[in-house]
Amino acid sequence: MSRLLFWLALAVLVVFAIRSKLRASGLKPPRDSRADYIPREGASEPMACCAHCGVYFPASEAVHADGRDYCSPAHVRLPSK
Ligand SMILES: [Zn+2]
Repeated sequence: MSRLLFWLALAVLVVFAIRSKLRASGLKPPRDSRADYIPREGASEPMACCAHCGVYFPASEAVHADGRDYCSPAHVRLPSK
């Protein structure tokens, strides 16, 4: 009898594990949705190119001026190449 209960409990655990796994994977955002993009710790981030020196840096750190991206406020004042 206890053997039957053991296998029954194991089957219930496996079902719950599979269901929680499916639910977790169903909550992931689709890969092509850029509008609600929230960068996570250690996740990749969109890059921007400085209009003056050409260095690539995280777009969230960009300094915007005249419709261009710059790596620092100092490069905003310098002429773009
Ligand atoms: Zn720069």
